[in-house]
Amino acid sequence: MRGSVCVVGSTNLDLVATAAVLPRPGETVMGHAYAEHPGGKGLNQAAAAARSGAATAFVSAVGDDAAGGRLLDVMRTEGIDVSSVATAPGVPTGRALIGVSDDGTNSIIVVSGANSTVRVDDIHGAAVVLSQLEVPVETVQEAFSMARAVGALTILNPAPAAPLPPELLAVTDIIVPNEHEVELLGGATALLAAGVTTVVVTQGAAGALVVTADGEFRVRPYRVASVDTTAAGDTFCGALSARLAAGDVLVDALDWASAAAAISTTRPGAVPSIPTADEVEALVRSAD
Ligand code: ATP
Repeated sequence: MRGSVCVVGSTNLDLVATAAVLPRPGETVMGHAYAEHPGGKGLNQAAAAARSGAATAFVSAVGDDAAGGRLLDVMRTEGIDVSSVATAPGVPTGRALIGVSDDGTNSIIVVSGANSTVRVDDIHGAAVVLSQLEVPVETVQEAFSMARAVGALTILNPAPAAPLPPELLAVTDIIVPNEHEVELLGGATALLAAGVTTVVVTQGAAGALVVTADGEFRVRPYRVASVDTTAAGDTFCGALSARLAAGDVLVDALDWASAAAAISTTRPGAVPSIPTADEVEALVRSAD
C-alpha cells in the first residue's frame, strides 16, 4: 500500500519485578512490585509508526500461549495489520525478564522464543520497511532485499548491537544507531562506505546527528521533562518511518521523530508512552 510501513521485528512480553536490591548469582530476594507490559523492539516500533498515522503491517511471531494471544490483541488495538504475525507451535512467546532495584539499576534476561522463528513472506506493498536485530539477521536481509526489488525504502535500527554482514548494509538506505551502537559498527564513515545512504546517530537528550556523503547536520532535540527514556529509540524509528512513508522530506521526518521520541520520555513504559500524531503535531507547532 502506498504510504504504508512494514515493520519486521520482535514481539515480547516484558515481566518486570522490582526489589530493594537485585539478587546476586545463587541468591533469592523478595520483590515488592510486579508488572507485565507488551514489548520487543518490533512491536514498540510498529506501535510508534501506527500512532504517527501510518498504515502499518507487522511481520513477527508469537508462541501458541496466552501471552501470544494478549500481544496479538495489543497489536489489533493499535490498528496494526497482523496478517503476517505467525503463531509458532512449540515455542514460547518472546519474554524479557527484567529485575529492577530501588536505585533504578536493572538486569535483564531476554528469551527470543518465537522471535527466532520470524520469516518474511510479504512486505505488504509498503513504502518503508523498518527492522531491528531481535529477529534472525537472515530475515532482515530477506525483507530488505524484497524492499529493494520494489523500490521501498529500508531503515535499520541496529539494536541490540551486533556486527552486521556487508550484504545487509548494502541493502540498507537509512541506519539509526545510538552512540554506543555506531561505535561498535565502526563509525558513520564506515557505514557510508558499506553502502548505507544516511546514518542517523541518536544522542539522547542532545537530539541526533545525521551523516551522509554530502556532509553532516543535526536534528534538534525537544526540551521536555523526561521521566523514563524506555523506548525513546523505538519511538524515534517508528515515527521517522511513518513520516517518510507519508512523503515528508528527511529533515521534516527527523524533526517529527525527535518530537515523538521526546514526548515518549515524559511518560513511563514502552508502548503506553508512545504519543499519537496529534500530540506530536502540537509539540512541533509549539516549537516553530
Ligand atoms: P532507548 O534504548 O532508551 O530506547 P536509544 O539509546 O535507542 O534509547 P536515544 O539516543 O537515547 O536512543 O534516544 C532516541 C531519541 O529520543 C533521541 O535522538 C532524541 O530525539 C529522543 N530523546 C531521548 N532522550 C531524550 C530526552 N531526555 N529529551 C528529549 N528527547 C530525548
